[in-house]
Amino acid sequence: MSMIKTRFAPSPTGLIHLGNARTALFSALFGESFLLRIEDTDQERSRPQFIADLMEDLRWLGLHWDEGPETAEPCADYFQSRRGEVYRRYYDLLEQRSLAYPCFCTPGELEMARKAQLNAGQPPRYSGKCARLTRKDIAEKLRQGMQPTLRFRVPKEHVVEFHDRVRGVQVFNTADIGDFIIRRADGSAAFFFCNAIDDALMGVTHVLRGDDHLSNTPRQILVLEVLQLPLPEYAHISLLLGDDGAPLSKRNGSRSLNQLREEGYLPLAVINMLARLGHHYESAQVMSFQALKRDFDLAHLSKSPARFDIAHLKHWQQEAVRTAELETLCDWLGAETRVLIPDDRRNDFIDIVRSNCTFPAEAHEWAKILFSDELERSAEMTRIPRAAGETFFLHAIDAANRAPGDFAAFIGELKKTSGAKGKQLFQPLRAALTGRLDGPEIARIYALLDPHRLERRLAEFTYPSL
Ligand code: GLU
Repeated sequence: MSMIKTRFAPSPTGLIHLGNARTALFSALFGESFLLRIEDTDQERSRPQFIADLMEDLRWLGLHWDEGPETAEPCADYFQSRRGEVYRRYYDLLEQRSLAYPCFCTPGELEMARKAQLNAGQPPRYSGKCARLTRKDIAEKLRQGMQPTLRFRVPKEHVVEFHDRVRGVQVFNTADIGDFIIRRADGSAAFFFCNAIDDALMGVTHVLRGDDHLSNTPRQILVLEVLQLPLPEYAHISLLLGDDGAPLSKRNGSRSLNQLREEGYLPLAVINMLARLGHHYESAQVMSFQALKRDFDLAHLSKSPARFDIAHLKHWQQEAVRTAELETLCDWLGAETRVLIPDDRRNDFIDIVRSNCTFPAEAHEWAKILFSDELERSAEMTRIPRAAGETFFLHAIDAANRAPGDFAAFIGELKKTSGAKGKQLFQPLRAALTGRLDGPEIARIYALLDPHRLERRLAEFTYPSL
């Protein structure tokens, strides 16, 4: 069997959101070879910046393409806007064989016909008005400077059948498919056409894409069949919904990958969450890209829509942080946090981060608390130590001086000398030392705080301040 080649074929008209990131991920997981093609024929909406961004996003996620821009010479082959010559050959072929014809209907005329059909309760499809123009009619219209589109002549009373790898056998009757545009009036290639031609010419064996494309597939099969080009297999992936059941959009929680990266999500968290949206994995552990790939199976794709839930993403983020390599977390912390951490404390601090922080901003807060003199205490965090009283803190300072860095000895001593226990013992200490009641175990805080800083914080609650 030939090698499985998949592709991701984004139109660079915006940032990559979770929906298309999942399509890209599934394609990368399934393919033995993974291709990236930029579908930038819509010149008005495509932007070079979006192309740069989407390549950066894919790389950030760890979806490295084997073929595509920047991996091959000439790289232009993977941009549809630069493949006009290739498409022209096939347009010519179709026109010569009268399998496609120029259509001079204006957008206004088409819209009127569409409305009339809808009003009559019929599905809107092209009436076939230009399908029977003679050579003379055509020549005359061209002479008048009219700019036609090119329509594919759909064979009548023909059944298109294919086996979708997710949805099973699909049967379409061409009576339900109107002749469709394969070249726009400005000469650019239309989606149905160039998308299918390129899959065939680029040797793509499996097309994984959103099931909003399901009804496009019979059209694309018709084109490939008349041109005797190879047909890929199709797997149409169920839609991604928001937690309110509506299609995932910005309004119900979709985010661009760029946004997720800026919020501090780790790519491994994002791919673990996405890989399980509509695809079942046995394991509930964080899996590497390679492990996700090994266990990916088209048979595990669900037909019903998947729901995105931010709580799942947060869960995978916590797991990814908990299990990440040391170096990954150091990078993730960012330079502003790294400079706060003394070298000899780095590993201990990272350990704290793993079990207490989900985002770099939280880690930054803890780095400030533990390794800088900056400490903000709310009124409540001042009230609690004050209520414990000056003597408690005088005992604490004594105990700390006797047992620097040794929490068990310190707390044993303080318990004895102050008589406090439980909440009465721990809350004033936490509030005094960190300005909060939550966070890492107090033993770890004690061990990480510089003894002088620790003493200064305790001393703030003795009067007058030492
Ligand atoms: N450029 C198309 C899109 O972004 C590709 C669809 C497909 O994967 O075939 O929707």
